[in-house]
Amino acid sequence: MKQSNLVERILKLLYPPRCGVCDRFCDGEICQECRDKWFLLSQPYCRWCGRPFDPNAKTSPLCGLCLQGQYKFDYARSAVIYEGLGRETVHALKFQRKPRLAQPMGELMAEVLDFALKGENGLLPSPWRRPDILVPVPLHPKTQRERGYNQAALLAEVVGQVHDIPVSTDLLAQIRPMKPQAKLGEKERWENVKGAFEVTQKQTVKGLVVVIVDDVMTTGATLNECSKVLKKAGAKEVCCLTFARTVSF
Ligand SMILES: [Zn+2]
Ligand SMILES: [Zn+2]
Repeated sequence: MKQSNLVERILKLLYPPRCGVCDRFCDGEICQECRDKWFLLSQPYCRWCGRPFDPNAKTSPLCGLCLQGQYKFDYARSAVIYEGLGRETVHALKFQRKPRLAQPMGELMAEVLDFALKGENGLLPSPWRRPDILVPVPLHPKTQRERGYNQAALLAEVVGQVHDIPVSTDLLAQIRPMKPQAKLGEKERWENVKGAFEVTQKQTVKGLVVVIVDDVMTTGATLNECSKVLKKAGAKEVCCLTFARTVSF
């Protein structure tokens, strides 16, 4: 047995790993019980922005916002509904210093990306193009310093590893602090993000297929603003991928 393996095993005996969400002893970053409670986002949802629809209501292929042409991105998709355990997992990742939760969360997002690249079994008019680069939504430098990490970047790293796609954390910057979106109403959220992001390497972005990665999508205002500046800088296609998505019905 190699010495490092021995040390690892002793450490494991002294400090057995615990689930990042419920703190029970478990083998990985999250226990199976918690993972089983993630409410996976499944059909029906808006074909464009991925907004979940009420399964009991008669729905059109697109949601109201997409029919109004609100979004600048090509598509957006999320892995789970932002409720219950899905929400708790995001909170643990972000606010309870559990960055290792990004591993199972990112792996699930990688599956969602895989499905989109395959055209979602023919449901998409055209499958997503394979991204050249993954771009996490940047935090303001002050927030990042306080938290110690950007949760979106951690998620992007995992998706990038699974799909072998590079991640760029310095292509996009948040150039002014924003109020926390969660504390704002729908209208204020769209105002709050205006002009908050900038593409720092405009020449690099030209002609690229980009997937923006974040932890949660609510109104989509932040992702839309990031998409807008990336497209303005010449990105060919911009899609968005988040771990969780709020439900509004
Ligand atoms: Zn657990
Ligand atoms: Zn939509």
